[in-house]
Amino acid sequence: MKYDHILIRYGEMTLKSRNRKIFIDALRKRLNRALEGMDVHIKTTRDRAYIVLGDEDAYAVIGKLKLISGILSVSPVVRIEKTEAAMKETALEFTADFDADRTFKIEVKRADKTFPMETHDIQGMIGAHVLGNTDDLTVNVRQPDYKITAEIRREAVYMYYDTIKCLGGLPLGTGGKGLLMLSGGIDSPVAGLDVMKKGVEIEAVHFHSPPYTSPEATEKVKKLIDIMTERTGYDIKLHIVPFTELQTTLYDRIPDNLSMTSTRRVMLKIAERLAGTTGAEAVINGENLGQVASQTLTSMYAINEVTTLPVLRPLLTLEKNDIVNMAKQFGTYETSILPYEDCCTIFKPKSPKTKPSLEKVRKFEERVDFEPLIEKALAGIETYIPNGQDEDEAFEDLL
Ligand code: ATP
Ligand code: MG
Repeated sequence: MKYDHILIRYGEMTLKSRNRKIFIDALRKRLNRALEGMDVHIKTTRDRAYIVLGDEDAYAVIGKLKLISGILSVSPVVRIEKTEAAMKETALEFTADFDADRTFKIEVKRADKTFPMETHDIQGMIGAHVLGNTDDLTVNVRQPDYKITAEIRREAVYMYYDTIKCLGGLPLGTGGKGLLMLSGGIDSPVAGLDVMKKGVEIEAVHFHSPPYTSPEATEKVKKLIDIMTERTGYDIKLHIVPFTELQTTLYDRIPDNLSMTSTRRVMLKIAERLAGTTGAEAVINGENLGQVASQTLTSMYAINEVTTLPVLRPLLTLEKNDIVNMAKQFGTYETSILPYEDCCTIFKPKSPKTKPSLEKVRKFEERVDFEPLIEKALAGIETYIPNGQDEDEAFEDLL
């Protein structure tokens, strides 16, 4: 079937009334970027959008649309004249794609109330034409294998039978900015992509501790950023923080069973300062309730104390299995499971406290002057920009 349009149904922005235009404009921007260089034309309206296909294959274009948040579903459609003959003919052409011995149903949406025939009669007319010209199709109005829809609108009739579910959510750029704490593991990339689906732009921060962590571990995180950028069509900046001195100091000065808590506290302090310069209004991490010692409520309470920024944990209550499936779907899984260890794995205490006492943590931390080390770490940040050059950003205004 040669399609000439793709119908785009909006996601949650249909819930917006007054500021819907902002969301539609943001979606248009994402569409422009995703379909750059293709022979298509984008038309947005208040309730839906259309991609007018030049010489492009509908499903090739849909492959790109599936990655854009703010789109609920899409259908490849044929736009035809508002005549009985055109509707009958197009429905019959669709059936050429159907598998043998299947059931179908005709659905008519008569948005143009001036169209001279009633909905029921149009359905009957198209259905009879399909039945009369095929051998192995039968009608099933309750649970059809195929549903052929004819939308009769003021300007034309749009017909389709295939609807493809997309990401949903809100267009990127409508939800502010967050700073993602990105390790090399399975969870944090998924957390970042999940928040982006709600329209939030992100920058990422990664702490590494060379030579305890290998160059491969850092490369792996850059690779994750490349995948996430490719996936979302949005250039995600990655700030790489040299964490070795802090890590060894924490290791030496904080009792083994509390060092994980203090490590996370220091990371979060640095993330907060970085958020200040990047314009991020929240920190995002991949924590999952009860997964490890640092991810109990008591631990989160003790860690969170160092910042007033909201810490978003989109994976908090998910099953590990579901997170793994999301990672596979996003395309980050294969990279995440590469063996290189990140700084936390190497300095992992033997028996971290699941219920760290905030008082004790504070007491031990008071004996160490972390501030100069934090400043040094901030000054040493290197920023990786996907598909571009690394830039040595001087975060002097932080100091
Ligand atoms: P992940 O799969 O994301 O590594 P995890 O289940 O292994 O998560 P932890 O290693 O305890 O959990 O880390 C919890 C969260 O802390 C991570 O999801 C990530 O957001 C953040 N984090 C941990 N290590 C680092 C790091 N080296 N750099 C930046 N963020 C980190
Ligand atoms: Mg991890």
